[in-house]
Amino acid sequence: MVRLTFYGGINEIGGNKILLEDGERRLFLDFGFPYKKHKLFYEEYLKPRSGAGLLDPLMMGLLPPLEGLYRDDLVAPGLWQQFRVIPSYRELGQVDGVLLSHAHLDHSGHISFLRDSVPIYTTAVTAFIAKAMQDSGKSDFDQQVCYFSPTTREYPTGWRQIACLTGNTAREQRQFCLGDVKPEELSPEATEFWNRGFWEKTTRQKELISRPLASHSGCIFNLRCFPVDHSIPGACAWGIETSAGWVVYSGDLRLHGKRAELTRRFIEQAGRLRPRAVILEGTNVLRETNVAEHEVYENALMAIANSSSLVIADFSPRDVDRLLTFLQVARDTGRKLAILPKDAYLLKTMRLLEPEIPDIVQDDTLAIYQDTIASKYPALWLRNICQEYGSKIILADDVSAAQDQFILCFSFFDLNELPSIRPKAGSLYVYSSSEPHDEEQEIDFRRLHSWLKHFGLTGVGLPVERNGEWQVPDVEKGLHASGHACGPDLLEIAQQIRPDVLIPVHSEHPGFYIDHLGGSGINVILPTVGGTIGI
Ligand SMILES: [Zn+2]
Repeated sequence: MVRLTFYGGINEIGGNKILLEDGERRLFLDFGFPYKKHKLFYEEYLKPRSGAGLLDPLMMGLLPPLEGLYRDDLVAPGLWQQFRVIPSYRELGQVDGVLLSHAHLDHSGHISFLRDSVPIYTTAVTAFIAKAMQDSGKSDFDQQVCYFSPTTREYPTGWRQIACLTGNTAREQRQFCLGDVKPEELSPEATEFWNRGFWEKTTRQKELISRPLASHSGCIFNLRCFPVDHSIPGACAWGIETSAGWVVYSGDLRLHGKRAELTRRFIEQAGRLRPRAVILEGTNVLRETNVAEHEVYENALMAIANSSSLVIADFSPRDVDRLLTFLQVARDTGRKLAILPKDAYLLKTMRLLEPEIPDIVQDDTLAIYQDTIASKYPALWLRNICQEYGSKIILADDVSAAQDQFILCFSFFDLNELPSIRPKAGSLYVYSSSEPHDEEQEIDFRRLHSWLKHFGLTGVGLPVERNGEWQVPDVEKGLHASGHACGPDLLEIAQQIRPDVLIPVHSEHPGFYIDHLGGSGINVILPTVGGTIGI
């Protein structure tokens, strides 16, 4: 019997951690950061103590208590004794790998805790985006996906506290195995990007490889990696041949983006496997329809074409397709698209694998906006980007002097630049992202509205609060295409693949599948947190 145990992604959107066990063979489908659970306890100034290693995430239920799965350097003496009595505790043997579906942290973040003997199987684009995100981000100790700082235990003299774990200056790279291309097919520049750290200290490097996933006893997993369309490039679904038949894991997907063809091909090929089980996401099950990416383009063009002042576009730059949508709008309205250095770094990284991504140097429409206040010790990646693209850099004064010439790619966290830019009243703030999902985000939205009011900016596509609900006004809808398929599309995916068993994950309304697939011949089984489904 094949056992599937669901340690995350149940009745929540994200945090997927699904253990698949087939005899001696054992792997995880994603190992994501559980934002919803994390926010129950933590905020910006109250975080798990990095010096306590695994204690906080285990004790707070953010990580499953599976002894043997995690890095030894994060285990303080006696740590496991306190968990051995709880029902979900298990001593887990060697895990053979993680099949990572895409680079969003709610699928990848907690990889940071895994033993580095566990290889990560994913697409080249996902591996590269994950590295670019980590190089250019402020990744906390619980979100270090591609490389991590091993800790050592220190006993401060004169103090009675227990030892703390301190991060080494060295970095260790994780073993990534590519499921879609062979590392030797990558360009020398791409290989160099993976092998070179944007750090200045010694690093234990692990080159990219591609090899079959084998269990510790030498049994090979027969895997299929299916590229799919999602709001970040490189997303994939996985097929795993088990002793009970094929198990297919969707990751996150949609049928209405620029790469919808990939998802269509996945449905067809997965259907041909006649899978025993499909583990399917259900983020947007309650939505009846989708906004397509080309509608975002048309609506954004309409909103921006008539503006004669500054335009700020707020979207997730990791959604490279959205960035390209706004690049096209900038071209069509005779403006420059000003991106942040970290977005430039991501584009440069993507171009190593997808040559159709524009070259920042050659593209006259692209500019790079550099923060007004210089940092004293800029990170190496930032220095490199600013040197390489020196001629493309613009500052607040450049934007201020020619406000009708730019679309600035800012989000809420970049608003601090506005006092330097001094946008003219009537400037536009085009919001092309999702509505707030929790109280914290609602508070940020209230702040965002205050900023717009203060500077006399007009919001377009921006959710507003009415009777406690945050919604985009009807006339301004259509400026954001979700990364997730709507209910009817998800049912179509399920019915076309036609597994014997369907297991919904990554959803707050998994019962939708029971309601709509009754009598279809597909047996829907709802997983429980920490529960096992045998197939
Ligand atoms: Zn995602």
